[in-house]
Amino acid sequence: MNENKKVKSYLSSTLQCRCPRCRNGKLFVFPISIKLKQNMQMNKHCKTCGQLTEIEVGFYYGTGYVSYALTVALSVASFVAWFVLIGMSVKDNRFFIWMGANAILLLLLQPWLMRLSRSIWISWFVFYEPDWEKIKKDNQSVEIS
Ligand SMILES: [Zn+2]
Repeated sequence: MNENKKVKSYLSSTLQCRCPRCRNGKLFVFPISIKLKQNMQMNKHCKTCGQLTEIEVGFYYGTGYVSYALTVALSVASFVAWFVLIGMSVKDNRFFIWMGANAILLLLLQPWLMRLSRSIWISWFVFYEPDWEKIKKDNQSVEIS
């Protein structure tokens, strides 16, 4: 049975916000939406392998750095795209229009960026275990209320 299960790669499981341990269970309770509060609600445990999603209190504070790096990378990409497609000049307002367009783009992508940051962050601390079914983890039975 399990041999037929297709295992996701690191990249696709991280982009899809899946548990980094089994690469199958969803990290977030709800599908992505603009409701920010609901959007960031995470499953306490992975529904597939039982991995805790908040390993310790304040575990996700570090996601600010990931989010910042993603934002900078996106801004650089949009600047390059704007420079190539539309162009930049000091004589008109094209630079400032880019700044506005980039701000709107980042705002629209914010729900996705926040989730992706958490997914990337947890993937640096929880590693993929192909035979997770055989390995019992100590923190599996821990319940945080
Ligand atoms: Zn899992």
